[in-house]
Order: sequence, then C-alpha cells, then structure tokens
Amino acid sequence: MENIEQKIKKLREQLRDWDLFYYVENFPKVSDVEYDVVMMQLRELETQYPELITADSPTQSVGGKVQNSFSKVRHKVPMLSLDHIFEDDSLLAFDTRVREKLKYYDSINYCCELKLDGLAVSLLYKNGELILAATRGDGTIGENVTKNVRTIPTIPLRLKDDGNIPNLIEIRGEIVMSKANFLRINETAKKEKGKVFANPRNAAAGSLRQIDPTITANRSLNCFCYGVGLIDKETLPTSHWELLQQFKKWGLPVSNIICLCTGYNEIIKFYRHIHNTRHLLDFNIDGIVIKVDSLLQQQQLGFITRAPRWAIAYKLPAKEKLTIVKNVEFTVSRNGTITPVARLEPVLFSGTSVSNASLHNLNEIKRLGLMIGDTVVIRRAGHVIPQIVNIVMAQRYTKKTSPIIFPKLCPVCGSKLEKEKNTISCIAGLVCDAQRKEKLKHFISRKALNVNGIGNKIIDQLVDRQLVQTTADLFRLNQDKLTSLDRIGHKSAQKLLDALESAKRTTFARFIYALGIREVGETKAAYLADYYINISSLMVADITSLINVKDIGIIVATNVRNFFNQQDNIAVINDLLSPQIGLKW
Ligand code: NAD
Repeated sequence: MENIEQKIKKLREQLRDWDLFYYVENFPKVSDVEYDVVMMQLRELETQYPELITADSPTQSVGGKVQNSFSKVRHKVPMLSLDHIFEDDSLLAFDTRVREKLKYYDSINYCCELKLDGLAVSLLYKNGELILAATRGDGTIGENVTKNVRTIPTIPLRLKDDGNIPNLIEIRGEIVMSKANFLRINETAKKEKGKVFANPRNAAAGSLRQIDPTITANRSLNCFCYGVGLIDKETLPTSHWELLQQFKKWGLPVSNIICLCTGYNEIIKFYRHIHNTRHLLDFNIDGIVIKVDSLLQQQQLGFITRAPRWAIAYKLPAKEKLTIVKNVEFTVSRNGTITPVARLEPVLFSGTSVSNASLHNLNEIKRLGLMIGDTVVIRRAGHVIPQIVNIVMAQRYTKKTSPIIFPKLCPVCGSKLEKEKNTISCIAGLVCDAQRKEKLKHFISRKALNVNGIGNKIIDQLVDRQLVQTTADLFRLNQDKLTSLDRIGHKSAQKLLDALESAKRTTFARFIYALGIREVGETKAAYLADYYINISSLMVADITSLINVKDIGIIVATNVRNFFNQQDNIAVINDLLSPQIGLKW
C-alpha cells in the first residue's frame, strides 16, 4: 500500500509540474498524449484505491493555474472541465446514464457542438456592457484579462439590445486562434528569434495572457460562445440550442457547426461527419461536445466534482500516439541514399495499423537522441508516413535500450558507403539490387511510363531471379520469363506484355521523368522537355545551358549533367530507343 501511495504521489507531482508549464507558461513540457497516459494511470490507481483520492488530485480538479501578473477573479459559478470519451460504447453508456436519470421524459435531445481547442473565457455583461473577462484558472479563481479580451474584434463590448438582455449575464466561450494565423505568427517569431508556440491552443493562451494588451490585439484571436455561468434572472430560453440562437441575436460569436440530435445514432452520425471534415475547419478542434439540450434537464442532472453530468466530450482520434521502437533498419533509395526507418510496436490510427516511421537521416536520429527500445510519441497527419515527434525520456530508464549503429557498408549489396553532410549513400548504382529495384519501380510508375499491372512484388522477383537488369530488359520479357514468377499464369503474363507494349508510346517529358535523375520531378522534366525538344540535345547539354531552363538551378543542372556523363545511362537510353525495343514519343 505504501508503494501505491508513493506511486500516486509521484504521478500527481508529475501532472502538476506539467500543468504549470501548460497552463501558466503556455509552453507544454510534454505532448498531450504523454500527459493523458499519465492521467489515465493515476485515474486507474484511484479507481482501484478510492480511499487514496484527495480533493486536490489532478483527477478531481480543473487543471489551470493563475499567473501572478494578473489580478484574480473569483468565479461565482465554477468553470468546470468536461469528461472525455474515446469510443462509441462510452457514448452509449453516457446516453444510458442520462436516460436512467431522466426516465420520466419521453425523449432526450442533445445539442452537439465542436470541441474547440483553445482556452475557456468568462465574459460578464452588466446592462449589456462587457465589464469583466476572466480565464478559467483552476475553475474557481481565474485571471482578469478584461483589457486583453476587449481587443478581440468578434467579442462585442456591448450586446445588441433586443429587449431581452438580463441585467447581469456571464457568457462562457472559447478563445481560439485560426490555424493560418498560428502559422503566420510562428513564422514571424522564427524570423525575429521570438517565442515559437507548440500549437494553436498554446498560441491562443499565450496571446491572450499578455501584460500588454496591444500584443493581444495584434494576434487576431477569435472567440466562440457556448454557455452561461452567472445570470440574475430566469429569462433565458428553455433549451441550449435556443440559448445559442439568443447569443447570436445579442451579437455574440457562435459556431455555425451545431447539430440537434435525438439519440445515440444521430450523435454518431454528427461525430463521423466532423471526423471526416475536421481538416477543412479554420480552427483546431479535438472532438465534439454533446450536451443535454433542455436547460431544465441539465439542472436535474447536475455536476460531479470537475465536470457536468449533462455534457461529455467525445474526442476525435489523436493524431499522436505512444509506441515503442523495436528496431531501426536501413533502406536504400533509388539514388542510393540510406534512410533509417524505425520499426514500431504496431499502433492503430483511425483503424489503420502503423508499424513504421521514417527517420529521414542521421541528423534526425541525433536531434531526437533516439535509441532502440525507446518509447516515443508518433504523429500521423493525413496519410503521410508517420513521424517520431519525441522520446518519452521517463521511460528510457525503466526499459532496456540500445544505441542505433549506422551501417558501414550498404545493407543490400555490401558496397562502400559515402557520407556527405547528413546523407549517407551507397555509390554502387545499378550493382546494388535495392537501387535497381527502386529505379525499375520508378520507371514504370503512373507518372512515368505508367505500365499497368506490374507491382512491387513482381519487380522484386524479376531482380532477385536476375531476369531484369536494366529498364530496357523489361521490354525483353516474354511469356516464359513472366510465367516463371509466382502466381503468374499465361493470361496475366499476356496482360503485362500488352501493358509494356502500350507503354512504349510515351511523351518526352514522361521519359525524362522516368529516367529518375536526382531531383528531377514531373515539373522539371516537363520544362527540360520543352526546352530541348529531343534527347540528343539534352544528353549533351552543359551546365551553362541547363541553368537557362525554367526552375533548374545549379544543383539540378549538375545532377542532370552527372547522369548523362555515366556511360551506363547512355547505353540504356540507346537500348530503349533502338528499333529492337522501339520506345518513342
Ligand atoms: P479539456 O480542454 O479537454 O475540456 C474542457 C474544456 O473544453 C472546457 O473548459 C472548455 O474550455 C473547452 N470547450 C471547447 N469547446 C467547448 C464547447 N463547445 N462546450 C464546452 N466546453 C468547450 O479539458 P481541460 O481540463 O481544459 O484540459 C485537459 C487536457 O489538456 C488534457 O486531456 C491534456 O490533453 C491537455 N493538457 C496537456 C498538458 C501538457 O503538458 N501537454 C498539460 C495539461 C493539460
């Protein structure tokens, strides 16, 4: 038991320390996923040992702290947090809990909103005039940020009088910064060697909590209102939905994305819709908030210590997760660059299992200080290859880790490696099977010669069985060679041969791109094709001529020249264009 107490104490201290950096400094020490994991560990222990729960535990209190530079404001109605759920089953459990408590009602409506990722604000209006604005702080005591809030253009200093304004009303909302604005501010900060924010939430918090309100004014903050705290008379509408409509009439900013739902299935539909379209929003969100719509029913449900019983936040799948680096392997690219790839303990992102993360180059490993066995935070944005964001150092000392040893020889062909700045390359060219395979894959890819039906597995077999050495050899394939491969019958072989035959008619630009010259992508290939018209002129072009081509600088020009200086490359091009193969445009 003493051990458990110690463990709980340590977890609480850890979370309080992180809270300080997150809420006071607006500069998180760790990522949200690491914070949430430790919070979950503490919650689990407190559920197992409820006698050890204390009122000041981070699980029981609202996380914020106040900065001394602001005067303090006591919230007459506490500003609470929200309970979080992460899966449909928990939503069903929430709906069931609500229905059980409100069983004497026929149906229950929910008002669903975006869970905006910013910081909560309280706006006190007296006779329609904004007289006080405060942050949430620890839920009871917040900071007086009136001067700063007054600079936010969308927050009215005076409510529009529709004859319905209470003498005193405290509006609750979220201060946010748009994604575009966040990038702009960070860009400027980088140039001026100023403070760079970790995310739009921290940028919004850091911009609002400025001693000098003119700084806040320059940060183009925004606000969305979503609730009421203190009110002096009961003239409010009877539902949350109507309340938001009333807010709009008073000129308060309210998000247009709200949805009135009856029951579980409609909420799930709204959630899925937001999940699929979140990237189109101007602001970061981290979920949706589901609120019982009737204000009377909200009152009947009441609160638990740190959150209302009538609302819940259904979080969107995190873009960051924790996992373990099981190994680091080295792959060889088309041009011989050796790229370290982290093999991970598989982790699910929106139903897709992720088990690899790119480490780019030597520098990235050094920057991260990565070791095999480390617990890491990985981020997956869209469908790009996941990246390792940082290492959870606290885990390093409890787990077995080992250093990453860079190979001295090419892991595929065993040739010598060359190092230039941060890039290590195998210089064996086509002698290296890995480079040969990648070159062939590029040559037949959609934007190059677009040969349908020849996938990576076929190329791997063709090279491993030495049936193909150069790109020209692809056109010397026949029924016998193709049917000797795994799972290729006569019919499939014929299809592949037909695809190769039609690929012989191409364009000059596609052909240049297909050659796979370092740093010559589709666009540059098109400019080269426009400029030189035929391959013989391109093959002899010198650097002075090449840099006249649109978008071609000295580096790419040198790459082009070096490519055509290699006799092997010239031989393959001549082979491809010979009457025996007959590639043309
Ligand atoms: P929360 O931000 O997850 O949820 C509660 C808040 O949601 C409310 O206070 C309100 O401000 C906001 N909200 C947004 N839209 C809303 C809407 N439509 N209706 C009502 N409220 C809305 O909870 P929290 O307690 O503020 O923060 C906890 C989270 O913050 C943690 O889960 C963690 O991920 C993160 N955190 C991270 C660190 C770190 O070091 N990385 C430290 C502390 C907290």
